[in-house]
Amino acid sequence: MARLSLGLLIASVGMLVVSGCAVNPVTGRQELALFSVSASQEISLGQQAFPKAVQQMGGEFRDPALQQYVDRVGQRLGQVSQRPELPYQFKVVNDSTPNAFALPGGSIAITRGLLVNMENEAQLASVLGHEIGHVTARHSVQAMQRGTLMGIGLAVLGATTGQAAYGALAQQAGALAAGLLENSYSRDQERQADQLGIDYMVQAGYDPQGGVQLQEFFFRKMEGGAEPMWLAGLFRTHPFSKERMGNVEAYIQQRYAHTRNNPRYVMNTDAFRSATTRLRQTKPAYDLYDKARELERSGQLSQAIATYQQAATALPDEPLILTGLGMAYLRADNVASARPHLQRAVQLDGGYFQSRFGLGFIHLKENRVADAVRELEASMELMPTTQAGYILGGAYEKQGNRTKALELYKAVAEADPRGQYGQAAAKRIGELERR
Ligand code: ZN
Repeated sequence: MARLSLGLLIASVGMLVVSGCAVNPVTGRQELALFSVSASQEISLGQQAFPKAVQQMGGEFRDPALQQYVDRVGQRLGQVSQRPELPYQFKVVNDSTPNAFALPGGSIAITRGLLVNMENEAQLASVLGHEIGHVTARHSVQAMQRGTLMGIGLAVLGATTGQAAYGALAQQAGALAAGLLENSYSRDQERQADQLGIDYMVQAGYDPQGGVQLQEFFFRKMEGGAEPMWLAGLFRTHPFSKERMGNVEAYIQQRYAHTRNNPRYVMNTDAFRSATTRLRQTKPAYDLYDKARELERSGQLSQAIATYQQAATALPDEPLILTGLGMAYLRADNVASARPHLQRAVQLDGGYFQSRFGLGFIHLKENRVADAVRELEASMELMPTTQAGYILGGAYEKQGNRTKALELYKAVAEADPRGQYGQAAAKRIGELERR
């Protein structure tokens, strides 16, 4: 199985991508870019990076009815946009940090921590409409065209499918997702996305006052000395200011005065309240979970475990909380206590890389090698990490599969040559090749 290096991949696709101009679908103006990204490339990039971005944001929030509801609202807005043909998808991700993000091509996510602060469907529509605005105006493509992300994007586009999931392609898609999640938009881009979002809301039949309500809520958050989670989340990716709020109000006043107190434009408060019932019920337990994570980060491991326990008692069947508890026990070297929580987390939701990793690690420690390989491969397929890659390499060695172990160690060493696992992998390669 051939695995190409990043340099080779860029060289091989260099021919396919012609630098020049692209027409912006929203403004109709020509855009000068070093590389032009076609609509189908834009969609392909977004669709490959999105699952990895979702994993990095805690996975999908487990509430299928809520997921469908949010997707329905988003699709309604996408259909009235300048780019109705894009394959839009909308997910609620299980992250407490209030945030929302859009990847090129129409893959959009909103965090549990932002959604739980909202009061009606029009407010939700204003956030999703704003994110759709970043997509239709190609702000998310422009973000990708900056600097090193473009190289990674080209590698993803040029890579042929059929490689192992933990090969170069998956690694690049993960790196692209991480880079795009770090992006913050400019003030001009924010203004344009705000206006586009309001346009879509009105065309889809929502009361644009929902957008004003949300901006006022953001303003109160900012004025009250924003909490770290807001500063690290929405206010970083989508810079907020009093001026921005004023611009939204003026724009609605100017263009959409006829929507004021007009029953044709809805807030849909009841539908929203009912769709988000479970989300709101989970909040106290997730507050405890966030506190536990904070304690764990600051090295207070036993207090962290006690707090995870409280969260798991308040909300017993929540996979992310069980994963946090299990991983904290693993950090404390208490495998016996970690096992049941990680087993239950995987049983409830096999689609989150961290719980599959933790369970695989336990299987390996307890010498169930085949089970370990299964879980670690699943984890790597969901979200390749150098940590899981290195541990999986060890599991292959225990199975006597030298070829696969070497292949994986090489991928880890190449992905992170200076890191802890990259260096450990390089050492194992040396030892295996000397045999
Ligand atoms: Zn924005």
